[in-house]
Amino acid sequence: MEKLSNPQKTIETIKKYQFSFQKKFGQNFLIDEHVIHKIIRGAQVTKEDFVLEIGPGIGTMTQYLAEEAREVAAVEIDRKLIPILGETLSAYDNVTVINEDILKVDIAALAMEKNGGKPIKVVANLPYYITTPIIMGLFESHVPIDNITVMVQKEVADRMKVGPGSKDYGALSLAVQYYAEPYLVANVPANCFIPRPNVDSAVIRLTRHEKPVVDVDNEGLLFNMIRASFNQRRKTLQNGLKNSDLISASKEAIMDSIREAGLPETVRGEALTLEEFARLANILHRKMNEK
Ligand code: SAM
Repeated sequence: MEKLSNPQKTIETIKKYQFSFQKKFGQNFLIDEHVIHKIIRGAQVTKEDFVLEIGPGIGTMTQYLAEEAREVAAVEIDRKLIPILGETLSAYDNVTVINEDILKVDIAALAMEKNGGKPIKVVANLPYYITTPIIMGLFESHVPIDNITVMVQKEVADRMKVGPGSKDYGALSLAVQYYAEPYLVANVPANCFIPRPNVDSAVIRLTRHEKPVVDVDNEGLLFNMIRASFNQRRKTLQNGLKNSDLISASKEAIMDSIREAGLPETVRGEALTLEEFARLANILHRKMNEK
């Protein structure tokens, strides 16, 4: 069967099923074979792997994943795509299509059933508005993950990769880097999709750290401190933390901790590395428990 990465085949398939694109599901289908190869190579998929694909669309990338992986589960929210996937994936006996909202799927149970609880690979080309919650949800939950390779808006990929000193540095950079090592797999121009999105995209691979890169006594406090600092980006770190409802520490404890961490009193949150945030969070956590 001719692959869907051929734009003519995609158009033919869409017409045959009288499929209409739904904006609310962020439906832009890939029509570029080079990009698909880059994604699959970037995701380091091998014949040993179980791959979870989120949002298969009409199955364009799924066809390639089925050939490269041991087994694939593809979770698609739009029931109108299910009969199409039935046809486009009919040649593969190692693909399961699940018609569900990914936010409602018990991914840990799926990983246990399909991969005996061993780390899985996740590949996704999703609507941009749910990409960040899904990535964070996967990392924060106890799903065993090897890597997540995901298509995101170009700016979001930039935000995930950068460190202090960049205007793109923020809470997302720190959250992603706490859990994983980001790597830019490919830039993907808008003309690689039908219909064409309004923005350029990028594929980023997030390889989960085997061991945490920083020692943190209280993860919740660390993340609240990060959020508080970047919610008020123009303020000093000290004021950002003191004014935030997320942080219940006293003003003195905050000031003392900043000093003890060896940071200038006027420092802004955006100047701190992940290691510095972690050190500060551990000091503040200790002081909060002393009281
Ligand atoms: N992977 C296909 C491709 O690259 O051509 C389709 C990508 S399209 C950008 C996003 C896909 O995710 C659509 O098929 C859409 O219906 C699906 N989707 C959107 N929200 C979803 C959700 N919450 N759970 C599962 N699938 C979802």
